[in-house]
Amino acid sequence: MIPFRNFRRFLRKALEQPSYAVRVAMKRLFTSMAYRCAGGRAPLPEAITVFLTHRCNLRCKMCGQWGEHGVTRAGGAPQNGGELTIADLKRFIAEAGAFNPSITLFGGEPFFHRDIIPLIETIKAQGLHCLVITNGSLLKPHAASLVRLGLDELNLSLDGNRDTHNEIRGMQGLFERIVEGIEEINHQKKLQGRTKPLINLQCTISKDNYARLEEMLAVAERLHANSLTFHHLIFMDEATYCSQEETVGWLLPGTSSANWKGFVFESGIDPRLLLQKMDAIRQKATKIFVNFYPNFSDTEVIDYYENPRYLPKSYRPRCLSPWITAYVFPTGDVRPCLNLDYSFGNIKDAPFSALWNGEQAVRYRRILKERKLFPACIRCTELFRY
Ligand code: SF4
Repeated sequence: MIPFRNFRRFLRKALEQPSYAVRVAMKRLFTSMAYRCAGGRAPLPEAITVFLTHRCNLRCKMCGQWGEHGVTRAGGAPQNGGELTIADLKRFIAEAGAFNPSITLFGGEPFFHRDIIPLIETIKAQGLHCLVITNGSLLKPHAASLVRLGLDELNLSLDGNRDTHNEIRGMQGLFERIVEGIEEINHQKKLQGRTKPLINLQCTISKDNYARLEEMLAVAERLHANSLTFHHLIFMDEATYCSQEETVGWLLPGTSSANWKGFVFESGIDPRLLLQKMDAIRQKATKIFVNFYPNFSDTEVIDYYENPRYLPKSYRPRCLSPWITAYVFPTGDVRPCLNLDYSFGNIKDAPFSALWNGEQAVRYRRILKERKLFPACIRCTELFRY
């Protein structure tokens, strides 16, 4: 339930947030038992990601939604509207409070949702752990509120120094805005005598930054980040995508994997040069917690980039995520997987707990358990988490 390779990461969480880590460990134990014996039913989830909006002000090159190959860019999702209201969200959080999940707010860019601050207030009033994943462009005006409300963690995307980041993310002046936002958070933490939110920088490795990844260490130190995670690029070949569509269409008629289409491209990364850069980063002394995700061995890094169908041997070939994590989309649909439009139902129509172990959910988990994986799962980061 906590892969050996992720143990260092888990240990760090345990030291930074002990009660959160204990809760996660207990929930994983129950989930592991349910996976084996409960016939597709699952304990209420450990984590829920709420996608507040599909809207975004950036067009990051490698983004599966709005990037060069992204499905949303081609008209796959509305640019606005179709978002849950604060009344829907508050009702949902009130129910979730009873089973204590960690709540992640994401998008699109979540700060486009006009009620994100009252929502965080509601989540923290329920005593839930709350993380926001953001591109950082709209952060500064909210900094004082986020610190005051006790937001736990802030994950910010940064792909390099000023020129690298602005080029990849497609907006001049963006890096400077993110820096201003983080500096304001740090200032407010001092002013209000708080240690949270933790600042976690997230760097996506791509053909446009992998040859100068070390830049990120200086950026993270300058911003007094708590952690810096380098994410291996998600990409797949056309054959894997076609196999995914065919398999899912056959097993779950009416379900589409079209969102995976945004990840069909070649990485453009020389994995041997990448390994040199990774080594150089690991050898630099820094107080910041630096890690690579998934935490592949050197040979796995080479295979991952050279063979799009590769499944690393140090991870088990089965997915537990739909037993542990739920995704709530801007429409209110509860889904087990990010890039599949299969839904357990809608939180506007039924309580979340009824959907989580409803007929649709049990059916999905039974099929997945029997198959262990769908074709595209080998490129899903969730496979390497549990
Ligand atoms: S690995 Fe597969 S089943 Fe698991 S969350 Fe990802 S897409 Fe869904």
